[in-house]
Amino acid sequence: MANALANIPAESDVLCEGCGYVLNGLPDGANCPECGKPTSESAATLRHGAAWEQPGPALRRFISTTHEVLAHPTRFYRSLATRKTRESSNRFARAHWAIASVLLGVAAYAHFSWYLYLGNLPSALDRWNYTIPVTLIFAMIVYLMLSATTQVAGWLTTLEAGFWGMRLPLPVVLRGLDYHAAHYLPVALVSCATIVGYRLLVYWHLAGSLSAPMYLYVLCGEVILGAIYLFKTYWIGMKNMMYANG
Ligand SMILES: [Zn+2]
Repeated sequence: MANALANIPAESDVLCEGCGYVLNGLPDGANCPECGKPTSESAATLRHGAAWEQPGPALRRFISTTHEVLAHPTRFYRSLATRKTRESSNRFARAHWAIASVLLGVAAYAHFSWYLYLGNLPSALDRWNYTIPVTLIFAMIVYLMLSATTQVAGWLTTLEAGFWGMRLPLPVVLRGLDYHAAHYLPVALVSCATIVGYRLLVYWHLAGSLSAPMYLYVLCGEVILGAIYLFKTYWIGMKNMMYANG
């Protein structure tokens, strides 16, 4: 079998952002011989650091970049400078991992305590003084999982991309995944609202006797939709970085 690794374009190769064709040596104002896209549209200068990496108040930079990643992922990744270090992007990721971890930690606590309540098991978790420590333990587990998953996803992406001859070295992939962490926010918010919302209905005796299976179906549906959403947005990121020249 041919070694696809040999066909990965070099860092110095200029690629067409439209189709990945190697544009080395073409004069200014030329078009891509493969897809006809003006080569100027593949210029490295069209890529820059995220708003998060610019000077200014941290909260504003954080919100602005989060909004851009969530609302315009294609535009965000199409204009992101891919060859910068991960120093700044990783801080963005850690902040999002922390937010998602707290939300999912609360959700995990609420779901677990409901589960024990459902089985009429005597539960230490129902005591309020256990709430915060147990939630924090759940949150820490989620944080470690998100951090580890990002690293593993980075390795697998680079491996897979190398096999298909795509120029996605690990530092580029990890930088992209750092910003992709913003997509955990809607997923964590929706699952937390569902679980805590249902837990409150049960607590206030507003949930009917048939509501438990319905709740679990909704939760399973959300897990599947969340996974699809995270994969689709991940792919938008990688697709818009694999022909990056800057
Ligand atoms: Zn092209």
